[in-house]
Amino acid sequence: MFRALVLDQQDGKTQAQVRTLEESALPEGEVLVAVDYSSLNFKDGLAITGTGKIVNQFPMVPGVDLAGRVLESADEAFSPGDAVVLTGWGVGERHWGGMAEKARLKADWLVPMPQGMDARTAMMIGTAGLTAMLCVMALEEGGLTPGAGPVLVTGAAGGVGSVSVAILAGLGYEVHAVTGRPETEAYLRGLGAQALVSRESMAAKPRALEGQRWAGAIDTVGDTILARVLAETCYGGTVAACGLAAGFSLPTTVMPFILRNVRLQGVDSVMCPLSRRQQAWQRLARDLPAAALGEIGHSIGLDEVRDYAQRIVEGQVRGRVIVDMSR
Ligand code: NDP
Repeated sequence: MFRALVLDQQDGKTQAQVRTLEESALPEGEVLVAVDYSSLNFKDGLAITGTGKIVNQFPMVPGVDLAGRVLESADEAFSPGDAVVLTGWGVGERHWGGMAEKARLKADWLVPMPQGMDARTAMMIGTAGLTAMLCVMALEEGGLTPGAGPVLVTGAAGGVGSVSVAILAGLGYEVHAVTGRPETEAYLRGLGAQALVSRESMAAKPRALEGQRWAGAIDTVGDTILARVLAETCYGGTVAACGLAAGFSLPTTVMPFILRNVRLQGVDSVMCPLSRRQQAWQRLARDLPAAALGEIGHSIGLDEVRDYAQRIVEGQVRGRVIVDMSR
């Protein structure tokens, strides 16, 4: 028997409840994992509250992330006792996910725990942190270097934003952080942000081109803010877009692309190929300052996930929330 957060539908509404289940209820997969930690991402919030059409099959165990130990494996790549981490691949959306004490998964989805990293740290990073690293890699591939000038991060006090700020600052970039929560200033400066930019000022509709401010940017919110970021990006700069916390529209023009040679790079962590994932995890083990993680992450138990899901959808969660199965 094991505990799991289970989503069901009643009268068209999503209900979330912690239940005790039999192992035989788990879906098919080659590897049975004892989950030590999961984490709460924006997408989990949408799934658990039923706000977004993330889950179509019920019952569903949410949790796009998990870290734990292999209990049984029918795949020779894994043996009992191996420490593993999983993010994405539709887990917690189409296949039962990490918010449970046990999960049965495809071997191809699992990444061996990076050297020197433990399960708790891996979940403080989670999908949000992996995405942040993939965004940093996209900026580097666009030619960005620490001396190039200010780099902007939007939705900075959220999960992807916080980890992005910490990685960029650790690598020596001058990080400017956009937030709608001025009370997070000390936190963001603690992660290494050199300046704060109000969300309100970035949400004003931009002209086709604005003054050149950013050598590069990581955008987690989309919509008018991303349009403004593009209009303010310096000649030859790269913008990595990964999120839609403000909306999925992009009310922009071609001007930043054709007159300023700006590159807009989309970033997806869900279907990201294994080799790039492994590269990103290795980079996270090396480039994300350990002290920053202590600031970014805090733990909750499975029983608290429902409340936190509502809070993350409302943009009220700071940093990363990890779900500790032993609590
Ligand atoms: P969080 O809720 O932790 O962070 C989002 C942040 O965005 C908030 O903390 C807030 O930051 C800001 N924000 C919220 N609402 C608005 C708004 N209406 N307008 C402007 N800013 C807003 O979520 P995550 O960090 O987990 O995810 C961020 C985004 O990235 C989500 O859209 C998510 O779906 C996406 N994502 C995409 C992935 C991919 O593979 N492409 C993977 C992971 C996440 P502040 O208070 O500082 O303003």
